[in-house]
Amino acid sequence: MKFGYSEVCLAHDTGKRHPENPDRLRAIRQALTRKHGIEYIDPDPATESEITAVHDADYVEEFREFCANGGGNWDPDTVAVEETWDAALQSSGLACWSAHAALAGNDGRETPFALGRPPGHHAVGDDAMGFCFFNNAAVAAQSVIDRGDAERVAIFDWDVHHGNGTQDIFYDDENVFYASIHEEGLYPGTGEIEEFGDGDGEGTTLNVPLPAGSGDSEYRTVFDELIAPAIIEFDPDLLLVSAGFDAHRHDPISRMRVSTEGYGMLTARVRSVADEVGAALGFILEGGYGLDTLSDGVAIVHEVFDGMEPVVPDEDADEDVRGLISKARETHPLFDSA
Ligand code: ZN
Repeated sequence: MKFGYSEVCLAHDTGKRHPENPDRLRAIRQALTRKHGIEYIDPDPATESEITAVHDADYVEEFREFCANGGGNWDPDTVAVEETWDAALQSSGLACWSAHAALAGNDGRETPFALGRPPGHHAVGDDAMGFCFFNNAAVAAQSVIDRGDAERVAIFDWDVHHGNGTQDIFYDDENVFYASIHEEGLYPGTGEIEEFGDGDGEGTTLNVPLPAGSGDSEYRTVFDELIAPAIIEFDPDLLLVSAGFDAHRHDPISRMRVSTEGYGMLTARVRSVADEVGAALGFILEGGYGLDTLSDGVAIVHEVFDGMEPVVPDEDADEDVRGLISKARETHPLFDSA
């Protein structure tokens, strides 16, 4: 793969005890040194006009001043230092690079993966939250649409948390489809099946909240029976993956049971769906807080594009999850005609 990476993102110092710290990127880099076929790109930061295309100008100005004054706790979880401003612009710039590189034809072994931090998917239009300041995936999606490089973008978010910010930004937008699989009841508490978009965007949001303890079989079934058909129906020009690795069975902050191979299985499925609809495909890092499981997860995504065939679980999904799939198929506007 081609990995977007910048030292600027290491300077966003959240303190030694914060789970979202620079060691995450260092661990990923370390794990990738043992792999072949890796290329690193250090793209430009996002421009302020790319940021304000999805974030309120007043919020952006307030955040800039917060950092310029030395930062601190924006909220109890979301911490900034002076360097966070540049890191946040860089993290969004990395996401934009991933989207643009994908649309420019980088696929197969050249598929782009943006390794930025701070992460983005909790950042809403007018506020930072959940370790996120700028919504990197949203900035990237809007950037390619505004440049006329894509008409329709789908964002599939496999981070264990619901990407409330991405949903919020595009909730009434018919050109951006947002799909999320997340742990029910976990932070920030949003992401019910009934949240499926509004106005022109009705049907362009798809939430699948899975019960704690769900693993590879549940993710595989939900992907095959809900996410894949929805993306195919939406028919995007670009598919972005908000790739968090905190649904891993050994991640310290969730109770999900996805294995490292499970992330490989999801990667292969995402690639097949992108191929089927002829969409460009790019990855953007979100969460993942076990240094080993995070770096193994990123490495297996790379390996799948390098020719590895992931092992697919063959157990049936849990009964609760079958019920959830039926409910989504009955109530979601996207499946109405099915
Ligand atoms: Zn997360």
